[in-house]
Amino acid sequence: MVNNSEKLIDPFGRAVNYLRISVTDRCDFRCVYCMSENMTFLPKKDLLSLEELEVVCKTFMSMGVSKIRLTGGEPLVRKGIMQLINNLGNEVGKGLEELTITTNGSQLSKMANQLYDAGVRRLNISLDTLDEVKFAKITRWGRLNQVLDGLNKAKQVGLKIKINAVALKGVNDDELSDMILWCGREGFDMTIIEVMPMGDIGSERRLDQYLPLSLVRANLSRKFNLIDIPERTSGPARYVKVSETGGKLGFITPLSHNFCESCNRVRMTCTGELFMCLGQDDNADLRTVLREEGEEGLKEAVYRAIERKPKGHDFIIDRNSGNKSVARHMNVTGG
Ligand code: SAM
Ligand code: SF4
Repeated sequence: MVNNSEKLIDPFGRAVNYLRISVTDRCDFRCVYCMSENMTFLPKKDLLSLEELEVVCKTFMSMGVSKIRLTGGEPLVRKGIMQLINNLGNEVGKGLEELTITTNGSQLSKMANQLYDAGVRRLNISLDTLDEVKFAKITRWGRLNQVLDGLNKAKQVGLKIKINAVALKGVNDDELSDMILWCGREGFDMTIIEVMPMGDIGSERRLDQYLPLSLVRANLSRKFNLIDIPERTSGPARYVKVSETGGKLGFITPLSHNFCESCNRVRMTCTGELFMCLGQDDNADLRTVLREEGEEGLKEAVYRAIERKPKGHDFIIDRNSGNKSVARHMNVTGG
């Protein structure tokens, strides 16, 4: 049981109990809104080892963090990742309420079983289209069939699945209602995500991709009866129930400020940089403290970092701000 005085409370009174970790910046896909095709990845020596990642997770848990999400890059392509997942999975029910993973689904055919056995019960799987050609275009390197096989396997072993789809103007906007119906049939929840201005993505342009979810929701409302549900995560998602399918549909609008006041999370990169806000560049270097001062130093550094958690973010996509308002790519901090 964590002592109240040890809990992570930020200057605005928000309790931080949710840690998201990007365990690798590498990925087997090159989604157009996330990466440029020619990405330079971090040298392996800069990464926290799996053992170090575990120490960080357990330190955060000793300070009241009860939910951990592993993301990336593609978390399931990091070599040996099951070691970390198994060890964290052992903590579920003993301080850790939940261990979840965000994945592109490419490795699930072979890993879904192991994830379930490790104690993972829910996955967020990113899938923006059910059209093979579009899928290849969006992900550049991905194959739809491989992901669908993985999804089926995950469903079969009993993992609860939420589909994350980024709304892309002129690309998948015509398909979102079909995806909602498909999710309903499969028993998956779904969230639609607004494109965020993170990192240079090469020749692609954010403004060309950006589709406000207010518009998406208005269009969907013509086809579906969307009933607001009070459920609030402490993040940027707002949920409705789709009467026609019985499924849950979330809208993630990180560009609006309406979620910052309830923000309960921090994010760490695979090199141990702790970002107190997805939409700000300020971060704390936990790798150096961990390596030089051990776990006690780490705790102290985390407290100091939480004292700097900002009230909100400054995301903006417009013609003046150009393509990006935060320098790092999404694969650095994970979604
Ligand atoms: N590779 C895994 C995956 O794709 O699920 C985990 C990491 S990925 C960075 C996490 C989520 O961020 C995915 O759902 C992806 O669609 C989303 N994402 C990536 N870049 C984004 C951007 N610029 N704006 C909005 N969502 C983005
Ligand atoms: Fe890889 Fe996920 Fe980024 Fe796509 S969104 S390139 S799958 S990290």
